[in-house]
This record gives sequence, C-alpha cells and structure tokens, in this order.
Amino acid sequence: MLSTFTPTDFSLEKLARPNILALKPYASARDEFEGEAEVFLDANENPFDTTEGFNRYPDPHQKKLKKRLSELKNIAAKHIFLGNGSDEPIDLLIRIFCTPHQDAILTLAPTYGMYEVSAQIHAVAMQEVKLNPDFTLPLADIFRAIDASTKLIFICSPNNPTGNRFAVADILSICARFQGIVVVDEAYIDFCEPDNSLVAQLEKYPNLVVLQTLSKAWGMAGLRLGLAFASAEIIALMNKVKPPYNINSFTQQAVWKILQNPTTKTAQVEAILAQRATLAAALAKLPIVLQVFPSEANFLLVRFRDAEAVYNYLLQHQIIVRNRSKQPLCDNCLRITIGTVHQNQALMQALGQYPQT
Ligand SMILES: *Cc1c(COP(=O)(O)O)cnc(C)c1O
Repeated sequence: MLSTFTPTDFSLEKLARPNILALKPYASARDEFEGEAEVFLDANENPFDTTEGFNRYPDPHQKKLKKRLSELKNIAAKHIFLGNGSDEPIDLLIRIFCTPHQDAILTLAPTYGMYEVSAQIHAVAMQEVKLNPDFTLPLADIFRAIDASTKLIFICSPNNPTGNRFAVADILSICARFQGIVVVDEAYIDFCEPDNSLVAQLEKYPNLVVLQTLSKAWGMAGLRLGLAFASAEIIALMNKVKPPYNINSFTQQAVWKILQNPTTKTAQVEAILAQRATLAAALAKLPIVLQVFPSEANFLLVRFRDAEAVYNYLLQHQIIVRNRSKQPLCDNCLRITIGTVHQNQALMQALGQYPQT
C-alpha cells in the first residue's frame, strides 16, 4: 500500500473490508424514531422515570455531547466519533480495515501497547519498526517496511512512553505517500506547547485519523471517553460498526457538564507543566539518574543506572511508577507520571535517600 500518490487518489472503497462496506448496521429504536414525543413505547424500557433518565437508552449518536466537542475542537460534528475510551476506536479501525490472517498494522516501537493487543485479538499481523535512537521517526525504515498487507500505521505523538512529539512534517510525509490509513494518537496533545494537533490537517489528508481522549488532561479517565477525528466517510464506517449504545447516559451527562467549564482543565494542565519542569530538573541532579528525556506529555521517561532496583525501592516506599526497561530503546528506563506538588516531593524525598553504593 505504498505509492507516490496524491491524497485525492485515496479510495476508502478499495481500502475498507468489503463485508464492512456492505454492512447494514443494527437500527435501534432511537435510530428509527429520533424526534420528540409524549409517549415512548418502542424500546422495551422500564417506563418508571429516574431523575437522570437512566431508565431510557442513551442517545446512540451522542448529539448534545458532540455539539459541545465540536465547539471546543473547532470541527464539525460529522468529523467526530466518540468511543468507550480510545481503545474502542483503535479496535474499530483494525476491524474496519484489516482482514484477519491477511492484513497488517505498522507500529513504531517503543509505543502504547494497545495497538498490538488489538491487532492480536483480530489475528492481524503487526509490522514493528523501531524509532531512531533519538526517538524521531525513521522515515526510510517505515517506507521500507510497508507492503501490500499494511493497512494502518499507528503513530503516537507525543509518544508513550518516550514523551516526545514527532515533527508534523514527518507525519504528513507519511500521510502523503501511504495509501492506507495513518492513525495519529494524540492522547497527550494537551500537554504540548503550542497546540500541534493534526486535527487541523484532516481536510487535506483523507487517510488521516486523529485520536484524542478525555482520560489524561481532562481528568476523566474513569468516565471512558475517547475521540476520533476523521473524514465524514471514515466516521460513518466507525458509527456503522460500533455497538449502538457505546457511550452510556451517565458518561454523556457527566462529560457534557465538565466540558461547560474548561478553565479547571487549563489550570490543571498549567500546574502539571510547571511540575514537569521542576521534577525534570530535580531528577537530572540525582547521581542515580543517567538521563531525563525531554517530554511534551504528563510523564517523564527517566534512565537510571539500575531501573529495576530503583523501581523496587520506590515500591517499598509505596510509590508506584512504570518500569519500561524491557521496551526497545528504553533500557533501564522508568516512566514517571507527573503528580501533585506533594506527590512529586514524596518521590524526590524517597529518591534523595536512595542508598548509594
Ligand atoms: C492513556 C492513553 C490513551 C487513552 O486511552 P483511553 O482508553 O482513552 O483511556 C490512548 N493512547 C495512548 C497512547 C495513551 O497513553
């Protein structure tokens, strides 16, 4: 799936699985009748109202929530898909574009583990290309690895666990040459300065899908809301394949309410960014630390002399970080989420007392 093509040559009809293109989706009661009415006796719901309306099925198209997100993200609602976390759009994209035992996704190691798990669940192969040693995109290696089976390329930017953001020009050069779908996972985009989201590029690249989430900067990990932005045609395919009521009423209501007032999120992101700088500087001074990698996310990847020992030491002090030492290019690295001032001080106090040998 590689050629020197102009994005206008891109054909969803050639790329998506024929059974998905032909699929006639389940029509729920709320699909068949969408208007206002006095008496709803069409969905076999319990008729006894709760104040929150939890006796009724949720809006399968999340219209009210998408309207708010459309204002916040400055993009029309038809370009927005909402999923049960980012995991759902990742799973749907693989199902829509990859035929089991035949097609492949391409990922860039080290990266987020869900792409591989989702591919394995669907018996879809994974072509893994290692990032350059400085964590930049290895463009030549990517183009060499792409073959006729490659349908999706997952690019996580800023990348988990390395923390760096990839050059927009590099990502777009992949979009311009690859005839499959380029999925850019922007779970950490709110921690970048300035906002470098590729959502603004969607009009130019019909093969681009951008993932975001409310689980990180927005502080709603427990509510499970993932976003995908793409052409109206790709969004329509995702809506066709999703479970009809994939976002429950409680989540739709709670998220809508929180999105009315984005100032809390803005203030929290600012606090996290300030703490990121403080923590990075403090960690860099420790003799047990070899390197603190630059981060545009809400975590730091840190190389220690002995990551395993430091991990276990912190564990004994009731402080849990993520050991990423076994990941490619992450030898002796721990991934540390930026906490509150108090939590970060507890971390630094513990590390400051680490027994020197
Ligand atoms: C945390 C994270 C997500 C978020 O997943 P949700 O299912 O939306 O909570 C997505 N992608 C990456 C790379 C992440 O690190």
